[in-house]
Amino acid sequence: MSIERIGVIGAGQMGTGIAHVLALSGYSVVLDDINKDTLAKALDRIERNMQRQAGKGIINQAQIAPAMKNISITQTVADLKDCGMVIEAATEDEAVKKKIFQELCRHLPEKAMIATNTSSISVTRLAASTDRPERFIGLHFMNPVPVMQLVEVIRGIATDDATFQAALDIVKKTGKTAAYAEDFPAFIVNRILLPMINEAVYTLYEGVGNVDAIDTAMRLGANHPMGPLQLADFIGLDTCLAVMQVLYEGLADSKYRPCPLLVKYVEAGWLGKKTGRGFYDYRGEHPVPTR
Ligand code: NAD
Repeated sequence: MSIERIGVIGAGQMGTGIAHVLALSGYSVVLDDINKDTLAKALDRIERNMQRQAGKGIINQAQIAPAMKNISITQTVADLKDCGMVIEAATEDEAVKKKIFQELCRHLPEKAMIATNTSSISVTRLAASTDRPERFIGLHFMNPVPVMQLVEVIRGIATDDATFQAALDIVKKTGKTAAYAEDFPAFIVNRILLPMINEAVYTLYEGVGNVDAIDTAMRLGANHPMGPLQLADFIGLDTCLAVMQVLYEGLADSKYRPCPLLVKYVEAGWLGKKTGRGFYDYRGEHPVPTR
């Protein structure tokens, strides 16, 4: 089944990135969010990011206008009714996602497929909340989507071959590389990455090093392109916490317990770059460590 029109639910960091790469790959994209301001900013952000890519010679300037034309925005899930596939990239909260699927299934034709960009929640469980578990799959894009090459593809227990193939075709058309992951909490990348970030927060919490020392140590000592605390800010501390909770509960192992300092930052609303403050304060000209 060839898919031409793809819905994206959630116009946050990931949804805008996914819409960006799909539109550049020639798909017609309908981007949906409950928040009007977020939607208004989303198109601006996508265009700016495309301009940045053109500036670096990654895409041609001439690709931008047609790609932007491929994207429409909506606050109404019913507007996704003509999509062959809908990729859900809303807040990492199981109740929120299940509610979205309930409403979406009411409007989506029987044959249409649904993918979730969840970082950690069971694809099988999310699929079971829909009327089409066999046409439901995990498509886990990495942040920032226009830059990162990998997409994890996760089959739920019921996902059929046609849906798996359609998901692989989308990944291929966007020029990205698929890695198949089994449906276990947090899949592959976050199963490994998030406990490392959580450990970095413990290192900060216990006073082993400050923000600058921890990030410098991992950049220069482990050759990581970005320190773990800077990366946490970039991912979003609420998302990091949500993934740790899923690992902790899903694998029932205390080694995954979220660091209390991570919880405190989230409770303060210091969610990282997206809210202007996290382990760094981004409100000035340069990021300043908050500890
Ligand atoms: P975000 O907070 O930037 O964006 C979430 C968006 O969802 C918000 O704009 C919000 O208004 C919208 N939303 C909430 N409820 C909605 C609803 N009922 N209908 C429509 N829109 C709704 O979060 P994000 O970082 O873009 O993450 C989105 C998803 O992608 C999560 O499942 C997350 O785990 C996953 N993910 C995140 C990253 C990352 O690095 N941030 C990487 C891979 C996957």
